[in-house]
Amino acid sequence: MVFEKIHTDEFEQIVFCNDSSLGLKAIIAIHSTVLGPATGGCRMWNYGSESEALEDVLRLSKGMTYKAAISELDWGGGKSVIWGDPKTQKSPILLKRFGEFVDRLGGSYITAKDVGIGSDDLRLIKSKTKHVLGIEGDKNSSGDPSPVTAWGVYCGIKATAKHTFKTNSLKGLRIAIQGLGSVAYYLLEYLVGEGAKVVACDIDSAMVDRAVKKYDIEIIRPDGIFDVACDIFAPCALGAVINSDTIGRLRAKAVAGAANNQLATPEMGHELMRKEIVYAPDYAINAGGLINIYYEDPIRGGYSKEKALAHVSKIEQTIANILDRAEQNHLPPHMVADRMAEERILKANRAHNRNLEG
Ligand code: NAD
Repeated sequence: MVFEKIHTDEFEQIVFCNDSSLGLKAIIAIHSTVLGPATGGCRMWNYGSESEALEDVLRLSKGMTYKAAISELDWGGGKSVIWGDPKTQKSPILLKRFGEFVDRLGGSYITAKDVGIGSDDLRLIKSKTKHVLGIEGDKNSSGDPSPVTAWGVYCGIKATAKHTFKTNSLKGLRIAIQGLGSVAYYLLEYLVGEGAKVVACDIDSAMVDRAVKKYDIEIIRPDGIFDVACDIFAPCALGAVINSDTIGRLRAKAVAGAANNQLATPEMGHELMRKEIVYAPDYAINAGGLINIYYEDPIRGGYSKEKALAHVSKIEQTIANILDRAEQNHLPPHMVADRMAEERILKANRAHNRNLEG
């Protein structure tokens, strides 16, 4: 069963980590190291079953491969999950033991934060392995990724606007934002600063208050965001927001935002194309956080925000390339992004195999 799945999706290595004495059950999935070390966060979650944990780690690690590849990073994709309730089952000794497992992989997997695992937890993991990045507050840390992600999303929105409306400026465009959390708050600075007309919502009134205190934006109730007549819809809250219930309601001409996994199913990407709604693929437009942490890797000579931001700015060109190619080939942009990522991996893999042949 497992081999069939990992063969089809070309996973390199799956490591099941077990320490019964500590109650540690974890899975590290290395989807690809073709472009470089498999990098991706560690999630601690109380999965309902082993297969649920495995499904999650496989899906997430493959996603990291594509995100790194489309972003021109010399990194592959990986992810790990610790199966347990982070509120009741997390302990320093369990995290240190997990760190030992990560260390054994010799740097082919680099871990970072994800749901259920914070900077303090990473510090414990790092006491047993150097293959950890993204500990906020530490010397050489790349810090909070949200402002950098927001910059990348803004660059991607610019490319989307240029492609869709043939304009170099967001001035006067109506942009509907779902969620006013960390990324969206920083994004507002760029959008409002350029004269876009923003309409937004959040289920958390504190987030709404924070945003309206600083910016002149229109607020609507959260369930109305899909019905807003606008130029660009920017999902910045949850995944799977483009689904069979919402897609028919969309009155946007383009979708470009920060949220991960915006399409509930790949079919939704085809449906957006049929509706002539331009879609900036999520993992390409929201890669700023990953790019930021890439420059924290000591092999790049210490974190440099300038280098990170310069690289993140390339998201504008990446989105432009994806949208142009999608239009030329009559394909949905999410498929084109996948192909572009796969082409880069395939090329590197061929070179690697030629090396093996000697
Ligand atoms: P966040 O938790 O700070 O903000 C999300 C906001 O969405 C919260 O304020 C929440 O109240 C709101 N929200 C939740 N459900 C909602 C709903 N139904 N309607 C309206 N608002 C709702 O998260 P964030 O860090 O800003 O990330 C936003 C999205 O971008 C997430 O999908 C995240 O996975 C993705 N992302 C973030 C980063 C990053 O650097 N932070 C990087 C890549 C992708």
